Amino acid sequence: MKDKCLICTEQSMHRCEVPVQMKKVKGLIIMLLISLSLFGMTACDGENGKVSTYEQITAELWSANLYLSMSFYLKREGYDGFAHWMEKQYHEEVNHAIAIAHYMINRNAIPKIEKLDVVPQSWGNPQEAFEDAYKHERHVSQLIDLLVKVASEEKDNATQDFLWRFVREQVEEEASTLNIVEKMRKAGEAGILFLDAQLGKRA
Ligand code: MG
Repeated sequence: MKDKCLICTEQSMHRCEVPVQMKKVKGLIIMLLISLSLFGMTACDGENGKVSTYEQITAELWSANLYLSMSFYLKREGYDGFAHWMEKQYHEEVNHAIAIAHYMINRNAIPKIEKLDVVPQSWGNPQEAFEDAYKHERHVSQLIDLLVKVASEEKDNATQDFLWRFVREQVEEEASTLNIVEKMRKAGEAGILFLDAQLGKRA
């Protein structure tokens, strides 16, 4: 018995041209499979929907380095109080990174620390440093908001709940840095020294 062609009705194996329409359907199926596999990687990645949370660890550590760099700059310029305030801020950011990492471990996900970009080394004056800190906190707020949005879309209630703490935290961070900037804008030379002494009291 002769082998039957798998594509057409010919009762023999031969070089059969796949009809154009069938080629198109095949192409569409391949594209669909690729899309599904890409979507699957993005949505799940074996981390219960917390794919991008680890990126925030790197962002928090970069923030920590930024404030440590500001602290060194302010100390160099003789503003011990401002430097102290920034050093405290550095520790706070490191604690944010640790909190996110611990949360991920609790959820059976893998926290990662990626390469950190260099941070600025100096500013024109203390006010410029604090203005940068305020701008940076606004940027971090946007990052957190994005994470909340992703967690919400993925119906990841636990991560949303975890992130609300950071949403509230950002309200505080923006308010405190803006408050210092506004005081600096009003303060003269003597006022800046008074402010420096005040911020040096940060517990
Ligand atoms: Mg932070």
